[in-house]
Amino acid sequence: MTLLNMDHVRHRFNGPEVVRGVSLALHAGEFLCLLGPSGCGKTTLLRLAAGLEQVQQGTISLANQIVGDANGCHVPPEKRRVGLMFQDFALFPHLTVRQNICFGVTKMTPECDQWIKQTTERMGIAELMGAYPHTLSGGQQQRVALVRALAPNPRALLLDEPFSGLDVTRRASVREETLALVQDTGIAAMMVTHDPEEAMFMSDRILVMHEGLIVQAGSPAETYFTPANAYVAGLFGPVNRLYHTVAQRKVETPLGVFAADGMADGDQAEILIRPEGILIEKNQSQTGCSVKVLNARLLGNASHLRLAAECGSAGVIEIQARVPGVFLPDRGHYVNIRVDTEKAFVFPT
Ligand code: ADP
Ligand code: MG
Repeated sequence: MTLLNMDHVRHRFNGPEVVRGVSLALHAGEFLCLLGPSGCGKTTLLRLAAGLEQVQQGTISLANQIVGDANGCHVPPEKRRVGLMFQDFALFPHLTVRQNICFGVTKMTPECDQWIKQTTERMGIAELMGAYPHTLSGGQQQRVALVRALAPNPRALLLDEPFSGLDVTRRASVREETLALVQDTGIAAMMVTHDPEEAMFMSDRILVMHEGLIVQAGSPAETYFTPANAYVAGLFGPVNRLYHTVAQRKVETPLGVFAADGMADGDQAEILIRPEGILIEKNQSQTGCSVKVLNARLLGNASHLRLAAECGSAGVIEIQARVPGVFLPDRGHYVNIRVDTEKAFVFPT
């Protein structure tokens, strides 16, 4: 069942369009992420779904009922039955934790009371019910905001960068708790994030946004392993980029030969290789090459290497590699590398 449907939605403030024709569907029980860099229109899309912005073009439906369209239909946020959670948590400072959590509950039933009791216990905030938001840590505020968003039993949950206000050490555990609670509740959720790892961790499906458009929709594995274009491929972190001409539907590079399906001879191709797609070989293989170590640094659970490949007339190209574990060869030494073709992508330039 489709809970939220956005159909050809466009939006502008005082300048050019910031949402340029977006269609998406959020299905029951699904966790969807809108992923893209700052300014690409994610928050605007979420605010449109929530009813905080009025629809200018296109149609928005919740559970098959139109809640916003260009003909003046606009169901206000409080009537949409969606739970909202923002980056700054937006707790009411003059209300206690209990009053915050109960704020959107129009009729307190024994079931709702029981749910709040159980959930606050589970989230470790039950003993804070009488406290005011400013006395809570960031992680505690985040949990209160989440429980508050869910307490009125909404049809869908909309989350805007809900973890970016937390420091890195707290973030991982709060993410896990949030995901577990959302999954146990069975509620459909749409979350906005600019963090690809967060999107991968949380979502069933990722919608990648670029300048007001959805450029790819797919599972975390699909967006990571089969990016639709160079932009999506580059979203998950720095990539090595090589430029070569296509010959016989292939590109031959100093790092190996790659298929260039659907491209014609003479086309310029851009080859993107993830740092984790550079594999260190014990011995020189037929498909690999020997490269010079410029620098090797330990990141913790992986090592980061800067390597130089000597490529005849093309000069020297620098390559970044991310190798699991501790691998710190001395500067100036040579290592043999090979490219994992699952982590290399060829696109027309
Ligand atoms: P994101 O959440 O992906 O960072 P936003 O949806 O917040 O992106 O913003 C998209 C674009 O719209 C940005 O260029 C931003 O400056 C602009 N924008 C957002 N809200 C407003 C507003 N209330 N008034 C004018 N411009 C806005
Ligand atoms: Mg935003």
